[in-house]
Amino acid sequence: MNRLGNGAEANSGHEELLRRALIKVSLAASGVHTRLDEALNRLRKTIREGGDIEAVQADVETVTDILREIGDETSLRLRASLNPTELLNAFAGQRLPEPVAEAFAQLQRRPPDNSEAMAAGIVKACMKWPKSQSLFGRWFGKSDGASNGAMAPMSGADLTEPLLRVLANVKLPEQHRDALEQIKARLEQLHDIEELPEAIGQLAETLLDASSIEQAQFEQFLTQLNARLSKVQLFLDSSQNRQQEEGSDGQQLQQDMHQHMSALRVQLRDAKDLKELQVGIDQQIDNIIKRVDSYQLNQQQRLQQNEQDLLLLREQLRATEDEAARLRENLSEQRHRANTDALTRMPNRHAYHERLTQEYNRWRRYRHKLALAIGDIDHFKRINDMHGHMAGDAILKQVAQILTGAIRESDFVARHGGEEFVLLMPETGLQEAQITVNKLREQIAAQPLLAEKHSLPVTISFGVAEFESDDVPRDVYTRADTALYKAKTKGRNTVVVERRPAEKSSGN
Ligand code: GH3
Ligand code: MG
Ligand code: MG
Repeated sequence: MNRLGNGAEANSGHEELLRRALIKVSLAASGVHTRLDEALNRLRKTIREGGDIEAVQADVETVTDILREIGDETSLRLRASLNPTELLNAFAGQRLPEPVAEAFAQLQRRPPDNSEAMAAGIVKACMKWPKSQSLFGRWFGKSDGASNGAMAPMSGADLTEPLLRVLANVKLPEQHRDALEQIKARLEQLHDIEELPEAIGQLAETLLDASSIEQAQFEQFLTQLNARLSKVQLFLDSSQNRQQEEGSDGQQLQQDMHQHMSALRVQLRDAKDLKELQVGIDQQIDNIIKRVDSYQLNQQQRLQQNEQDLLLLREQLRATEDEAARLRENLSEQRHRANTDALTRMPNRHAYHERLTQEYNRWRRYRHKLALAIGDIDHFKRINDMHGHMAGDAILKQVAQILTGAIRESDFVARHGGEEFVLLMPETGLQEAQITVNKLREQIAAQPLLAEKHSLPVTISFGVAEFESDDVPRDVYTRADTALYKAKTKGRNTVVVERRPAEKSSGN
């Protein structure tokens, strides 16, 4: 509002300038650009030396110009530095689509207190990116829109690099580590920024699943366990005390008995007559009995206390065991839920990624054959359109049932999303996989499937590929997808396989 320029502006103008300068400065970081550093130094010097408004203004304008020139291009990189919070600020500083901006704003208002949760929050926010905006491409000036003359478009690496730095600090429970490593490898290999959303999606699933659910539960469990352990410690301490008490009580008893005995001896020696002796002895024996009684009473009390404590302790330990068992059950139930598709009750995309990681690692180590197939129901949209969504759901369930029931025990099938299924077949080469998958295709096409009140003919097409040479999962998936596309264009209800293109030999 209050434009710069009028040198005669009042004091408030000066302050406003300083404020703006400081905001700009705080957005940048020193050591990023030598020209910026020099200008910042000059500005600080001018302010420190109480320079007049014209001088400050000139310096601020220089800084602003430099920032404008280099800012947009480098700011994300420099600000998305070492920790998730800074990364968040970097994202939040960009022009973002509404839902993403809102998610970031929320994260900023209430930042999670650990870096995993923050990283998870960031990727979750990124997931809200509207598909129509060609995702990150547009943001970084890849597609037509916002790109602004001299600015070089950002490559995938510009965003993946800060993400990778964040991920380097993320620690996940054992069972998620493979997935995380795979995602990191994928981010590192990312050539095309358009692939980023999917990688981020996968990352979000892994992080959210791992960090939010399990961490919280384990933390709670550990806190409880800790409380119970301190009670055990308390018991041990007090029972040790009682043992010590018991020991010193025994000593005291011995001493007392000694005294009573010598008193008795004195009585025997000095007694004048039998009567006096009898009275004296009676009294001493009385004393001794009382003393022993009181010792026994103490002893009994200690014993009772010990038993009570032991009982309590046993209860505590049983509660801990129960709690651990409940937690185990709960976690495995949650893991099951996180890995199961709600409609078809078959493994979902998340489970597929987990299994893929395992199979891929095994394949890399032992080089036994491994095939991957994608199946997609033909003209499924028509089924929905003609018979309704419920009918579509019923068909999906039956196809899932047929696939699940027909594959070998060592094979794996999951719903990858929509009407698309994905199969992993270990120890299976391309030809064998084609035969297997063709049988599945025949089985589905063989008889009409029941949907609501109708019997509908349903067919499915498959694309098949196998892991070869230095393939990563994405390569094989892409080949299977290409094959599926070919199957669709060939008229559907068919299986197509896709080999890896022959390596160009450079005549070595
Ligand atoms: P193509 O043979 O080329 O695969 O054609 P298609 O109609 O099967 O493919 P398209 O991708 O055009 O349509 C897929 C449809 O699947 C659109 C979507 O509404 C529907 N769909 C996705 N998930 C579900 C679901 O869970 N239940 C139901 N009923 N329909 C779903
Ligand atoms: Mg389809
Ligand atoms: Mg489809």
